[in-house]
Amino acid sequence: MTATPEIGMVVVQPTAFCNIACTYCYLPDRSNKHVIAQTTVTRLFEQIFASGWASSEITVIWHAGEPLVVPVSFYREAFATIERMRPASVHVRHSFQTNGTLIDADWCALFKDWNVGVGVSLDGPRELHDLHRKSRSGKGTFDKTIAGIRCLREHDVPFHVISVLSHTSLDQPEELLDFYLSEGIDQICFNVEESEGDHVSSLFHGPELRRRYAAFLRTFWHRARESGRVRFLREIDLALPRMFRPEGVPTRNIQTEPLAMLNVDSHGNVSSFSPELLGLKNAAYGDYLLGNINFQTLQEIRDVCLASPLHRDIAAGVEACSRSCDYFSVCGGGAPVNKLFENGSLTSTVTSYCTLTQMVPTDLILEAYDRLEHSPAAAVSAANALSLSVTGGSAAPEPSRMP
Ligand code: SF4
Repeated sequence: MTATPEIGMVVVQPTAFCNIACTYCYLPDRSNKHVIAQTTVTRLFEQIFASGWASSEITVIWHAGEPLVVPVSFYREAFATIERMRPASVHVRHSFQTNGTLIDADWCALFKDWNVGVGVSLDGPRELHDLHRKSRSGKGTFDKTIAGIRCLREHDVPFHVISVLSHTSLDQPEELLDFYLSEGIDQICFNVEESEGDHVSSLFHGPELRRRYAAFLRTFWHRARESGRVRFLREIDLALPRMFRPEGVPTRNIQTEPLAMLNVDSHGNVSSFSPELLGLKNAAYGDYLLGNINFQTLQEIRDVCLASPLHRDIAAGVEACSRSCDYFSVCGGGAPVNKLFENGSLTSTVTSYCTLTQMVPTDLILEAYDRLEHSPAAAVSAANALSLSVTGGSAAPEPSRMP
C-alpha cells in the first residue's frame, strides 16, 4: 500500500518572467509575463489544508521565475489569504529565491512582517558574478544584486546566498570566503553549474570535477570554521543531520516521494518530485504534469501521480540506488531531474549531481569525524562540533538549489 502523502514543500511560480538573463538559466519560459491568479493561490492552499496531508511545517518557495517582478501587494494579499485558511496545527513559512536586483525597503518590510526566508543568487565578487549573471542587455548584474544585499542588511533581514560555482570560482575558495565576510554574508549555499533543460554545462561532466569540488569544499568549510563568522554552510549543515541521526530513522528524500513536494506553475499546473521538471517538455511523461489545481482536487492529482510512468520510474531509480550505492542511507535516492538529464533515465543511479551534493560532503564529514576521534556513541556531539549552524540558518530545506 502506498503511504499517505506528507506535503512539506510547495514551490509556487508567481510568474515565469525573469528580469535578467543568466547564461546558465534552465527556465524555458522566462520572457512570459503571466502572473498567477490570487484565486489559484487560494484554491491551492484550500486543497492542501483540506487534504489532511499537510506536514506540520510547510515551506512555500516562491520561485521558478524572478518572484520580485510581481508587486509586494500581491504577496501581502496571498500571504494573508493563506494565513486565514491555515489550520492551527500547520506552520507555514514563506521563502523567496531571488536574483536580488529589485530588493528595496518595501520588500524588506514584507520580509520582516512575514518572517520570509530570503535566498539571493550571488556568484561571488564582481568578476565571478558578472561572468554569467547578466542583464537582458548583456551587462553584469553585480552592482544591483549587491545593492539588494546591502539593503537586506540595513533592514536586518536574515538571508542566505546561493552561489553557482564555475571553472574559475572552484579554484578560489579563500577569495570567495573573504568576499562573503567583507559583505557580512554568513549563510552560504553552493551549486555547481548543471545541465538542465536547454542548458548544457561544460563543467558538470568533467572527470576532474569530484576532486576539484572536494578540494574547494574542504578548504572553504575549514576556513569558514576558523573564521568563526559563518553561521551556515548548506552543503555541510544539511548533511550532518542526515548522517548523525537516531538509529532506525530513515532519511527522507522529498524529491522522490509522491506529492511531498508540490510544484505549481503560474497557470495552476501541478507537478511533483524535482521542481525543475515543471515547465519542461517530455511526451513519455506527459510533460511531467499531474493535473491543474484549478480544475482537479489534490486527491485526483495524487491518483494520477501514483498511476503515472513518472512515479513508476522514479521509484525504480530509488530501488536501484538502494541496491547499489553505499551512500543511499544519507541520500535516499537522489534527484530525479539530474538522473534524467545526466543519464537519460529516471531509473538510473549515479549522477555528477549526487556525487557533488551527497558523496563529497559525506566523505568530507567522515574525514573530519575521524580526526575528532570520537566513538560512534558520541555522534551527536560530533555533529555539533562539525556544524557551522548556530540557528539553523534561513535557507529552506532541500532542495533550494535553483540558481
Ligand atoms: S548518492 Fe547517487 S547513486 Fe547514491 S543513492 Fe544518492 S542518487 Fe543514488
